Amino acid sequence: IRENNPLKRLNDEIFVYVAKKQKEIEELRKLEQFRREFLADVSHELKTPIFAAQGFIHTLLDGAIDDENVRDRFLKKAAKSLDGLDALVKDLVTLSQMETGAIKMNIEVVDLRLVTDDVLERLEKIAQDRKVTLKVKPDKLPEVRVRADPQRIEQVMVNLIENAIKYNHEGGKVIIHFDEEKKHFGVSVRDNGPGIPPEHLTRIFERFYRVDKSRSKERGGTGLGLAIVKHILNGHGSKIAVMSKLDKGTTFTFKLEKAE
Ligand code: ADP
Repeated sequence: IRENNPLKRLNDEIFVYVAKKQKEIEELRKLEQFRREFLADVSHELKTPIFAAQGFIHTLLDGAIDDENVRDRFLKKAAKSLDGLDALVKDLVTLSQMETGAIKMNIEVVDLRLVTDDVLERLEKIAQDRKVTLKVKPDKLPEVRVRADPQRIEQVMVNLIENAIKYNHEGGKVIIHFDEEKKHFGVSVRDNGPGIPPEHLTRIFERFYRVDKSRSKERGGTGLGLAIVKHILNGHGSKIAVMSKLDKGTTFTFKLEKAE
């Protein structure tokens, strides 16, 4: 009899409705908080290079420009800050487009071996500066044909290999490894650098998260590289994994679907 009581039924329905609305409000509140934190983070990150460039330029205008040595040094520093600002804005645009789903992956057949060779050529200069050697394994593998967005997957390779060089010791090694499986190619980027402490490992894919803030900034990092990598691979239905041992090195791995 109770089951058929219309008042009880109405009461249950109201209860379910209120619970649903509460959940929606909670989700909106979280989104709002995410937005607020994101805006605060972005403003902070933008201010740093702007203040730095402003400082150098104003000091020059206040008279430092007359000293040739100081002038060159300060102009170089101001230019470096503005280059950092440019990289940051570019990464922010990419990330926000991906977060709102505005970027569609253009999936094609891509030879990842060729993409990697191009990337290694582009990064050769910074590798030489840090005396880091770069290697692809196995050498015999002629083609690594996968289904991927060529530009986006190139960005993944650049971000991972550049990090492996930047955060390595001088004279370190970086090995890019392709592993052919039945339906996939496994890709890994391994370095023998200082490694990442375990308590930071789960957080390095968050935007603006850096293990060592000053080192990241000194090496031109925006703090967005790995967040972008994660989003791009997500758009390929793939995931990035990381393994790291202190004083031994770090390995990032992911898989991509093989092209027929
Ligand atoms: P950044 O622009 O600072 O390089 P990323 O998102 O690419 O930002 O990386 C986040 C942080 O993860 C870096 O600041 C660095 O501390 C750490 N990290 C990334 N790759 C490596 C690596 N291969 N070895 C050691 N630390 C790394």
